[in-house]
Amino acid sequence: MIAHVSKWVLPVSRPPIRDGAVVLNGDGILAVGPAREVLSGFKGLICNHGAGAILPGLINCHAHLEFSARAGRIPPQERWEEWLESTLAARETLAPAAVDQGILQGIEALRRSGTALVGEVSNTGASLGHLENSPLEYHLFYECLGFNLRERVDLAESFPFLAESRAVENLQVSAAAHAPYSVSPELFRAINLWNGDSRPQTVHLGESRAELDFLSNGNGFFQDLLMRRGRWVEDFQAPGPSPVAYLNDLDFLGPRTLAVHGVWLDDPDCRLLAQSQSWLVLCPRANRYTGAGVPPVDRLLQAGVNLALGTDSLAGNWDLNLFGEMRWLHRNFPAYPGDLWLRLGTLNGARALGRDRDLGSLEPGKKATLGFIPLAEATENFWRELFVAGSAGKFRWLN
Ligand SMILES: [Zn+2]
Repeated sequence: MIAHVSKWVLPVSRPPIRDGAVVLNGDGILAVGPAREVLSGFKGLICNHGAGAILPGLINCHAHLEFSARAGRIPPQERWEEWLESTLAARETLAPAAVDQGILQGIEALRRSGTALVGEVSNTGASLGHLENSPLEYHLFYECLGFNLRERVDLAESFPFLAESRAVENLQVSAAAHAPYSVSPELFRAINLWNGDSRPQTVHLGESRAELDFLSNGNGFFQDLLMRRGRWVEDFQAPGPSPVAYLNDLDFLGPRTLAVHGVWLDDPDCRLLAQSQSWLVLCPRANRYTGAGVPPVDRLLQAGVNLALGTDSLAGNWDLNLFGEMRWLHRNFPAYPGDLWLRLGTLNGARALGRDRDLGSLEPGKKATLGFIPLAEATENFWRELFVAGSAGKFRWLN
């Protein structure tokens, strides 16, 4: 048994504990509380870390490790459409070995910055083996595209990875939908059916203004892109402007759906997400990087939408450090208490991915997945200093 003690313990599931302690028994958490209480009669090893905070490992609900090799190739963009075009072009020039190297570097960057669990979106399945061999916990979303799949879709037949990877037996693998402009209604239905009740599913939703224009008019940037890629269907009927209402009509929303980005949402969209208990994964720095815009955080919180955090990929963000998203949200939405952003990046993420039984907070019975961030003895603005230190890579694992 070992007890970790520090000036602050942040269990997330309850308020911060001053002069707190966490007792570990092997791989599990045995007790969390004020050191005075928890350590009375304690006979094991005591590690006192001093000024700073002990906190659970982070949960990043949205990354694309396979794009890591594109880091630094695509500068931040003013227009999202230009970012997407540059990203698609960069993909064509990467050798498989470079992609593999990028995945390994991405896993290392996630772990180093304090990530316990990643929701990885994969187009090829290449990241699965690397994730299985790493201490980083994962949920792999195998991303399906098929705007032109207009007949009834047999998912395992159209996407052989789902059969070949033994994903059927592995509940850490789901089928995922790319976006409303790249997935047909039939494909959305097939993905939903394949995932059933036991797996989370994800979709990029409301990321760009172009997506809304395409859903309402059936033309513009995405029609042009689909035509160039040979995916256009002549009799396409635009379903209407709101991507959230569209997915609700397709029965794709619900507590096991992680909609990602949600930059272009209005009040009825937020109400639909809240009513359906869907998750919205905010990737605010990525939205800045790609030129998508700023997610309507006030509106989402007022509507009571379940929120979690993601970084998206190194093709569309400065780094994969989730403390950066917390820092950005804390700076840009100062009216909210700082612990809200930590909760989004830990316990909420674990709930979204169906892993809150063992991850996301410091509670007896959960896995010993925790770290420490050193802080000055007297902090003027605790949360800001925590997020700044986390962004600067000061997190270190205690397990
Ligand atoms: Zn993404």
